Order: sequence, then structure tokens, then C-alpha cells
Amino acid sequence: MTPVALGIGVVMLIAAFDDDKGGDFDAPPAGGSLRIGKGGVPPEYAQLILDAAAACDAGLPPAILAAQLKQESGFNPDAGSPVGAQGISQFMPGTWQTWGVDGNGDGKRDVWDPEDAIPAQGKFMCSLVKKGKAHPQYNGSPIELALAGYNAGWGRVDQYRGVPPESFARGETYNYVKNIMAMSVEMAGPEDAGSAGGWTLPVEAPAGTPYHQRGPMWSSGYHTGIDFVVPIGTPIESIGPGTVVTAGPGGAYGNQVVIRHPDGMFSQYAHLSRLTVSKGQKVKGGTRIGLSGATGNVSGPHLHFEIRTGPDYGSDVSPIPYLRKRGLKI
Ligand SMILES: [Zn+2]
Repeated sequence: MTPVALGIGVVMLIAAFDDDKGGDFDAPPAGGSLRIGKGGVPPEYAQLILDAAAACDAGLPPAILAAQLKQESGFNPDAGSPVGAQGISQFMPGTWQTWGVDGNGDGKRDVWDPEDAIPAQGKFMCSLVKKGKAHPQYNGSPIELALAGYNAGWGRVDQYRGVPPESFARGETYNYVKNIMAMSVEMAGPEDAGSAGGWTLPVEAPAGTPYHQRGPMWSSGYHTGIDFVVPIGTPIESIGPGTVVTAGPGGAYGNQVVIRHPDGMFSQYAHLSRLTVSKGQKVKGGTRIGLSGATGNVSGPHLHFEIRTGPDYGSDVSPIPYLRKRGLKI
């Protein structure tokens, strides 16, 4: 297709989005930026991915779609698979029948054409995220559930009431979800690093219980963050620039704060004794958000800290690589 036609496609997409949302752009969905080029998305697919994510009103970060494309096909539009999956987004023919779109308006719904496949992937994923949001009792965040549904079919997600366990299909779906959640951190844009106050550790203290340590005291069966062992009343800071999306009681997490960063990722600070920010507040790296404590489900005073791809429980990723990528020593 020509660049002119691509331009028209983008304009129409934005116009359609505007109509749907009544022009209200005040509260964008998860959104987020994209690492383009080396170590990230091939430049020729970046706009397609950003548009596909923006077209979803359920909160679908472009970094998730990008990590999914890398996992599915390595960004290869000619990719096939032994079981018959086709193209850059690895649609099965039956799924393409339902979800395939003519994204570039050339009169064909072509599974081998990224300009059709990536918008279709976004549309399908968006519907799966909505299904995930409709099942908050399932094991996994809406995005994890959506990825599992994309890989194994939503019937399996219903069957297992969450992301299928490692015992299902020799771990294929379990690892698919895990890999994409981890890769999405690499796929998120780094341009916010160092701006608007830079990045800092939430507290200067040794890290205790590591990420993914297994144990019966966690509802997920493993530790979803890292712990910093500090006495009650220790000042806790936002690790980077962002907007407070949660500030208040959070069940087993006690008093918690969740901050959305410009890269579309979220940081969470739990078991606080006192909060000094409120929802909607803009913060910088180093802004004090509260004091550490022992509220919620704890065995002693500490800061529980998570990095997430979404605002809610179950979208956690390993915090250490995320922090180190921002120049922090931990
Ligand atoms: Zn913890």
C-alpha cells in the first residue's frame, strides 16, 4: 500500500475512535509507549501496533501487542506453524474467519498482510481483555487472561478459571503468557527514563523476599513483588514520574499506592502505615508517597513493591530488570 493510503487509514481510525468515545481523551486506557528499533519493534510495524492498541477502549498496552508479535512470529509476516497458524500474528484460519479485518482498505482481508493482521490481532485481544475484565475471580490479570485466550482459546480459560496451569499442553500456554508479560517490559519505550525527576528506588534498604519465591502465604502461590525490610514509618518514594491511580486500602495489600508511569507500566507500594498522595495526583521520581508499615496481610513491617503491566493484581513482572534498566543499583 502507499504511504498516502496508510495516512488515510490512520485518520479514519482516529475518527472512529473519536466517535466512539465522544471525543473524551481525558482518561486514556493503559496506553503506553513503544520501544522502536534495536531491541524493540521493527519501525515498519510500530504505527500499526500503536494504532491497534489505541483502538481498544479496554486498556491494551502497545508493548503487550508488540511482545505478542515477537513471541508469535518474531515479527515475520510470512511465518507459518506446524498446526496451521498464519502470518505475523499467527491466526488460525477459523479465528481469522471471525476476526480478520481489511485494515488497509485494499479490499482484501489478508492474514499474511501485517496491515490487516495487526489491527485484527488488536481487535481480538481487545475483546479478550473485556472477557478477562468480566471474570475478576479468575486467576490472572485481564491481560494475562486475554493472552491465554489468544493462545489456547477462551474455552480453556473458562475451564481452568484462569491462565491454564503448567500441566496444560506441556506448559505452552502458561509459558506463552509468562514470556509475553516479561518481554512487554523490554518493548515499552524508554524515553521517559531520566525525565521529570528521574528514577529512584522506593526506599534505601536491602531487598528481602525475592520475586517469584514460592509459598503458601501468597494467593497466587508465589511472591508477586519484592520486599524491602524497613521499620514502620520509613518514607517511601515514587520510583519515577507518573500519576497515582490507586491510593487507599487494598485488602491483603493493606494501604497501597499504585502509580502509572509514562511507559505504560505501573508500580505498586503496599502495607503502608500512611499515604501522602491521592488518586489522580502527578508525582516525580523521589516524590514521597507515604510511610512504610505493616497493614494488610504481613508477618512483619516491610514495603512490598511490584512492577506491573496493568494497575491490578496479577499483572506483575520481575521488578529488578525494570529498575536496573533505569540505572538503579539493586
Ligand atoms: Zn511482599
